[in-house]
Amino acid sequence: MLKKYPFFLPLAGCRGQCVYCDQRAITGITEVPSPEFVRRELKKLTEPREICYFGGSFCRFPKEKIKEYLDAAVQASPKGSTLRFSTYPGDLRDDELRALVKGYPISRVELGIPTLDPAVLAACRREADPQKVFEDIALLMEDSLPVGVQMMIGLPGQSRESSLNDLERLATLKGAQRWELRLYPCLVIAGTELEALWRGGKYIPLTVEEAALWGGEFIERALVLGFVPIRIGLQETEALAARAVAGPHHPALGELILAEAEARRLAKNSPKGPWRVPRRGLSMFTGHGRFGIKRLAIHAAMTENEAEERIIFER
Ligand code: SF4
Repeated sequence: MLKKYPFFLPLAGCRGQCVYCDQRAITGITEVPSPEFVRRELKKLTEPREICYFGGSFCRFPKEKIKEYLDAAVQASPKGSTLRFSTYPGDLRDDELRALVKGYPISRVELGIPTLDPAVLAACRREADPQKVFEDIALLMEDSLPVGVQMMIGLPGQSRESSLNDLERLATLKGAQRWELRLYPCLVIAGTELEALWRGGKYIPLTVEEAALWGGEFIERALVLGFVPIRIGLQETEALAARAVAGPHHPALGELILAEAEARRLAKNSPKGPWRVPRRGLSMFTGHGRFGIKRLAIHAAMTENEAEERIIFER
């Protein structure tokens, strides 16, 4: 797998602004880099990379601009490089645009599908019709464009059931394909509409523990359904630390979620153990106040010490 080389195009192409989002605040990047800048940077590379355009709705740029960015990426990077971008579902509905994109070595099209629940979509000010999202993804699949999904939990009006239901519906569509998945528990970022809702008492963010438990259930199910989690929780940056004013902001949230998912899986597969786990997963159980062991004990209805004694760490 090629190493990623990301360019952040904060909010570029976005028509509105989703209530929870401020890509500039999350990434600390305020200017959208131009295709010329991309070219200059990529000329410095000596090995092929996966060139990524993140942070906005890439395919909502005018076609000529999209072409300029795609050309910059393939022409200036070493031979063998590939391309990945994130975009709003439905942005590739246009046949001509899909034909254009297909002419490039696309490794993944990441679709922002935080939810498929119409009430939650409306609360988040996302213009998307869940039924159309399915049709749009089907078009990408017919064109053999590899799909990835970016989903969220803890959104305004969203419940666990609703998020798990989204996952099941997407799984039906993907069939046996292994779609990459990014899961972002919702944070309250300073300056967003969500901050106003939270300060006005109209939105209650998840705590770190709630996000870990909900996310753990979500990821456990996602793995069973054949999704491939590649990122859980936002990348920690100084900008994010400064601007996340509420919600499950924790640098190890991804690991807590994975620990919960693994504890659930182990207790389901073998209700009383012993549980054989790879040694590289040790910190998942013993780190963060022994969160993984505590959760395994709860799922297996035993004491922490009993749970710990029944875990066998293997090389
Ligand atoms: S969530 Fe995505 S579509 Fe919404 S404002 Fe942010 S970058 Fe744009």
